[in-house]
Amino acid sequence: MSTRVAVVTGSNKGIGLAIVRALCKQFEGDVYVTARDVGRGEDSVKALSSEGLKAMFHQLDINDLDSIKTAAAYFKGKYGGVDILINNAGIAFKAADTTPFDVQAEVTLNTNFFATRDMLTHFLPIVKAGGRVVNVSSFVSALTLNKCSSELQQRFRSEDLTEDELVALMQQFVSEAKKGKHKEGGWPDSAYGTSKVGVTALSMILARQVSKQRPNDGILLNACCPGWVRTDMAGDKAPKSPEEGAVTPVYLALLPPGATEPHGKFVSDKQVQPW
Ligand code: NDP
Repeated sequence: MSTRVAVVTGSNKGIGLAIVRALCKQFEGDVYVTARDVGRGEDSVKALSSEGLKAMFHQLDINDLDSIKTAAAYFKGKYGGVDILINNAGIAFKAADTTPFDVQAEVTLNTNFFATRDMLTHFLPIVKAGGRVVNVSSFVSALTLNKCSSELQQRFRSEDLTEDELVALMQQFVSEAKKGKHKEGGWPDSAYGTSKVGVTALSMILARQVSKQRPNDGILLNACCPGWVRTDMAGDKAPKSPEEGAVTPVYLALLPPGATEPHGKFVSDKQVQPW
């Protein structure tokens, strides 16, 4: 049997690095730090090594389709696919940032939603039987969902929402933000929140798709919230350490062989949350 492998996006720092640290201790197989910047990624591998942990490195910028394709081909070639994929990479503008809302909308959606979707498009086909896929969303996705118009809420919660429709809705948010009309269109005033609504809804859609297309492969795919975690993104006032933030993503990544749930859920503190 080929070596098992776990891949974590955006894992040169923050929650992603803490996820890699935990997997190095708990997962039997190779664990990859991936980062858009080779230097930052290799520094993190060295830091883990000084703790006595062996992680590997592969470059991966989720905003760069060639980088995604190159990485997917590498894991397919070397390992026959991936056993664990954790889509953790994400961005957030600071509250005080004065970048115009429409630019924040486009940039945030491009990374958090569209690039995460590109990752899933190219990596889901190489997730091995028994694989685990974890998309790091946020509790903000559930809060933001409740601020959408009732029509949008109904679509985002619907079991018949398709990937194409979701993509069109996310594009619609960006184009309405550009016209300054997103509020009239029923959208909330949060680019980050909307991007994470997209990540949670996409996870539910793809879980249904995987169950349909590969019913006997036992793959489990979920979205989760790490909690409010002290990182460069969230600042030093957050209550959880990165290690505590890693707990739920790692729990979902290590759901035991034969487990059938959770699947297609939004999970926080190891518990399925309402959506
Ligand atoms: P950090 O800002 O500390 O880390 C984000 C990581 O994502 C960095 O490694 C960053 O790399 C990487 N990244 C950003 N863009 C890309 C890209 N295009 N390609 C590859 N990697 C990229 O944030 P956190 O650790 O706090 O956040 C991790 C995840 O958890 C995010 O998805 C975030 O939305 C989510 N989250 C965080 C919460 C919190 O309280 N911290 C709460 C809820 C959810 P680089 O160093 O190169 O910038």
